[in-house]
Amino acid sequence: MWRATVLTLFPEMFPGPLGVSLAGKALGSGVWALETRDIRASTTDKHRSVDDTPAGGGPGMVLRADVLAAAIDAAEIAPDRQRLLMSPRGRPLTQSMVAELAAGPGPLIVCGRFEGVDQRVIEARNLEEVSVGDYVLSGGEIAAMALIDACVRLLPGVMGKQASGVDESFSEGLLEYPQYTRPQEFEGRTIPEVLVSGDHAKVAAWRRAEAEALTRARRPDLWAARGGQKGTKSTTDG
Ligand code: SAH
Repeated sequence: MWRATVLTLFPEMFPGPLGVSLAGKALGSGVWALETRDIRASTTDKHRSVDDTPAGGGPGMVLRADVLAAAIDAAEIAPDRQRLLMSPRGRPLTQSMVAELAAGPGPLIVCGRFEGVDQRVIEARNLEEVSVGDYVLSGGEIAAMALIDACVRLLPGVMGKQASGVDESFSEGLLEYPQYTRPQEFEGRTIPEVLVSGDHAKVAAWRRAEAEALTRARRPDLWAARGGQKGTKSTTDG
């Protein structure tokens, strides 16, 4: 079973949003497991302190290497499981990393707090730093939830139709085409004719063209990374 082991100072935050909808149902039916471990349980002093002031001075507090290392060791993570640290300095999380993580046994995820964690524990426990974007959260928990949620929806049997993971944003380096559903007319706006034509080939071509046009306009970085149009001609971006 795919398992996420989360090390946090705020275990009460979990499962939180992971306990509802797709992820929650899958959690309830045993498609995946969530193990939340309190870092504070690994303190040894009578004040149960997990942090201390930064060496060299400066604001805030830093998570202690010894406490965090003890918490990681106590989790007894199998050697084939990835060990991640949520961190704004980390490798930006992408759908391909998510797919890779979902295909494995499931990661250990360390959630930082305060100013971050002592560098030595990152090195000593071989933690791979992963970021959810170029902004700073107050803790790693919400970032860990984002990562877990993205992985869980890819696990076999979680999404209604297996196919719904194939065609979506980033799966081919493209953003997803626009979606529509009933009613046929909304505030004077109708669903594009081609989508109600019943012509599957035309629908596929339209979606492809829309996805390419959107990606080119909104995410030139993604567009450049896939080397432009790769021979398919977009019809909607003039
Ligand atoms: N002083 C640090 C930020 C600490 S924020 C710095 O400037 O890099 C506190 C914790 O929140 C971090 O240890 C990390 O676990 C988490 N966090 C904050 N922003 C994040 C992001 N963009 N991605 C992943 N984790 C993040």
